[in-house]
Amino acid sequence: MLTNDVLDKWDRESFFHPSTHLAQHARGDSASRIIAGARGSHIIDRDGNRILDGFAGLYCVNAGYGRREITDAIAAQAAQLSYYHAYAGHSTETSITLAKMVMDRAPKHMSKVYFGLGGSDANETNIKLIWYYNNILGRPEKKKIISRWRGYHGSGLMTGSLTGLELFHRKFDLPLSGVVHTQAPDFFRRDDLTQTEAEFVAQCVQKLEDLIAAEGADTIAAFIGEPVLGTGGIVPPPDGYWQAIQAVLDKHDILLIADEVVTGFGRLGSMFGSDHYGMKPDFMTIAKGLTSAYAPLSGSVVSAKVWKVLEDGTDENGPLGHGWTYSAHPIGAAAGVANLRLIDDLNLIENARTVGAYLKDGLVKELGSHPNVGDIRGDGMLCALEFVKDRPTREFFATDQKVGPQITASLLAKGVIGRAMPQGDILGFAPPFCLTTIEADEIITKTTRAVVEVLGKE
Ligand code: PLP
Repeated sequence: MLTNDVLDKWDRESFFHPSTHLAQHARGDSASRIIAGARGSHIIDRDGNRILDGFAGLYCVNAGYGRREITDAIAAQAAQLSYYHAYAGHSTETSITLAKMVMDRAPKHMSKVYFGLGGSDANETNIKLIWYYNNILGRPEKKKIISRWRGYHGSGLMTGSLTGLELFHRKFDLPLSGVVHTQAPDFFRRDDLTQTEAEFVAQCVQKLEDLIAAEGADTIAAFIGEPVLGTGGIVPPPDGYWQAIQAVLDKHDILLIADEVVTGFGRLGSMFGSDHYGMKPDFMTIAKGLTSAYAPLSGSVVSAKVWKVLEDGTDENGPLGHGWTYSAHPIGAAAGVANLRLIDDLNLIENARTVGAYLKDGLVKELGSHPNVGDIRGDGMLCALEFVKDRPTREFFATDQKVGPQITASLLAKGVIGRAMPQGDILGFAPPFCLTTIEADEIITKTTRAVVEVLGKE
């Protein structure tokens, strides 16, 4: 077996990591961790540390680690038929079964699922299909996409443009033209602290209306949003936000893409964020929870209204010129089928709802009155704490104090993974759905100790 030193050397010499400070990593200035195994809600690293994964990888290992039901299904599929493509009407029993399972769970007005590999490529597919849709409808000017600041939709050329985080644009010549951003529905970060939630929603709606008026409704094809802002800080929408936004979109004939990559398949304690918040999307992006990350697989779910136009398009133009070699890969599909069955069999969505609420309530009880905890928010198995220098004025800490990363590091040293969300001093949790109340208690106790260690008691 290779020693940790050798692996560390090879890693720094050869491995180009995503979302990493490349120079620090290459120099060996930053911490690295080699993961060796995982079970349930815990990962085990090569130094033998067993760590409670309060973020389920990248909020994706929803069913928990080491599930034999899923790994056996993958092995059986690999032995039986490791690959066949899905072009020109080809399928496998597994990919057909998964498509049926997805559509049985999706809102009733949705019609078909196109399978890809990850959330980014699924959103690229959505945008291409939306452009195609408006070309078929004879309105070639209606192409722009509205996204939101603090939204995350991937890091490709188009999806990185949709993402409303500066780090994903700077020096990459993004966003591409045709993508415009509107206000994030982040009530805690509202400019005017005297505003009520209803007034803030009215402001978000007004800003959207103003943007549509400035660009021209006949140039705007779609609006994309995560039901709950994820990477932008784990921010559930203010009450009534989605109903109000949906009304504006309907009025201007603008399609809605619900990016359900994080929220899909139960993270909010409902099957989809769209069900949870009463959204009626024309497209849904799915990935992570589709297979609980046992294999890469994503999907673009399209509504019956969109599907009809796509069908007409191929009657006019011939086969759709869009596809990936690995679309509907049978091994990913096998992971998806076994994962969705397991989630049902173990009633994991209900567990996400109840244990998620238990976790958030516990954090509020222990830290709700701490002078540097400005906000504790969440929904289902998704929650976050946002730290401030001064609570009454909501003054933030200077970025270079790195308060969020310090608390996250202190928590990790105690054996719990939380995520220092990049857009502020925000500690995020998105544990596997199988989290127990005992494990939730461990997160609560150790988070409290980490906060007190970094910020003191008062
Ligand atoms: N959309 C959302 C809401 C996400 O959170 C992510 C990834 O975190 C993506 C899209 C991109 O997915 P991927 O990283 O699989 O390309």
